[in-house]
Amino acid sequence: MPSCKFLGTVLDRELTWERHIVHRETQAADALFHVRQLASHSTLGLKHVTREWERSVAQSLFYGADALVFQQTQLKRLNSEVARGAALVLGLHHTATPAIAADMLQWRNAEQRVQHTQMHLLWELQHTAPPKTRRIYQALIAPTLHRESTHARLQAWHVHTHALLAEFETANSTRISTASKKEWGDHVQSFLRAAHTDHWLEQLKARVAPTSAVPPPTSQRPQRVCAPRPAPLPAVRTLQPEEFVGEVVTKQVGDDLEVGTVTSYDPHRQRWHIRYRSGATAAFTASHMAAHGPPRTACALQPGTSEHAITEYLLHRPKNAPAWCVAAPALSAYQRRHWAKVITSSDLAVCRGKYTSKHGDSSRQLCTCKSAALETIEHFYFECAAYAAVRQPLTDAATEWCKLSAEHTPDTGGFRQALLWAATDSQLLTPNGPNTAGDDLRKRALEFYAKAKAIRHNKSMDAATQPTQSA
Ligand SMILES: [Zn+2]
Repeated sequence: MPSCKFLGTVLDRELTWERHIVHRETQAADALFHVRQLASHSTLGLKHVTREWERSVAQSLFYGADALVFQQTQLKRLNSEVARGAALVLGLHHTATPAIAADMLQWRNAEQRVQHTQMHLLWELQHTAPPKTRRIYQALIAPTLHRESTHARLQAWHVHTHALLAEFETANSTRISTASKKEWGDHVQSFLRAAHTDHWLEQLKARVAPTSAVPPPTSQRPQRVCAPRPAPLPAVRTLQPEEFVGEVVTKQVGDDLEVGTVTSYDPHRQRWHIRYRSGATAAFTASHMAAHGPPRTACALQPGTSEHAITEYLLHRPKNAPAWCVAAPALSAYQRRHWAKVITSSDLAVCRGKYTSKHGDSSRQLCTCKSAALETIEHFYFECAAYAAVRQPLTDAATEWCKLSAEHTPDTGGFRQALLWAATDSQLLTPNGPNTAGDDLRKRALEFYAKAKAIRHNKSMDAATQPTQSA
């Protein structure tokens, strides 16, 4: 028998808990359905949805975790489930970076949750468990059994938890043998909070670590990371996408070797145009260029949409505290979710089109207006012609905000900073103290967003004319 289910835990032959994790993920996905429904209510507060997530999804996901020892990769999977839950509570699109949501809400990560329940179970085993259970536990931790046991994995739980226990006990004078349940619980919680407070932050930093400089936001499509050339030799030069123009490409077509030249680069669609000597033309994607382009040449690494959003978020996030839009007392649930969406570009094509762009259809990241520009936050709020009719009050408010803050000029760059400030409340953007135009700016931005959404969804139908009804 490869595996069996026992008290909600799936035991497999090797005790790797792989099947257990898969089972828990499926169970949690069922529970997620109700949370998703609650999160779609615009008036229901984040804390109520969070509570429901904790009650149903987290309970299911971490069921039995106190008695198991997970591998790092399994904890990573649990962490991505936690982050996905946070994104759901904030009403973000599933392609928005979930770790930003988890960091904004300052949710506990998987390690924190698992270790907390393990320490809780350990306390119970020493204090309140039935006598028979305690005797088994005492026998299990007795040094004689360590040597006699032949199954390495069966030892792991108490070896693992006792190593953790030693860490917890050296941190301060609280001892599991003498502490009350509450004292022990408080100590464990504060220890874990201190140890894992930067988990999401570190994860986000790691995502953007390889790229050093992020160019200022433009309405141009940010370049995605080009696929590495599968050649055995490392690249000897790195070119910007535009610098490929004029380079020679060679492609095997049947028995013939077609030779051509790169004639131009389209930054919107991320395509190079090729003209072969035979007169034929073609459009190359990054992977085509890696396979058939000039040898030993890499395409310059440039941050994509996610990396750009993460970099800006990291710059303006509060230290060790929930994000402004989560913590500010006066905001409604709708407003909290709105600003979270602004920070992650959640409702826009740049975010929604991420998945399809990986598969070559980069047009999904473009706005549907005539300019076909990349649909970024600044395009949506300040440039897109489709919403020009309802934009004036917002532009006026942003202009006023820029004028009053002295560091920002009332142009697209300044407006972008104004919007960033509205979403993050970052003091980096208002070094001279609170800006009196701030409240008005936020109000106008929300109004604009609501009106723009109405324009987006209320397109007139091109219906055929109906025959007039005779009386
Ligand atoms: Zn547009």
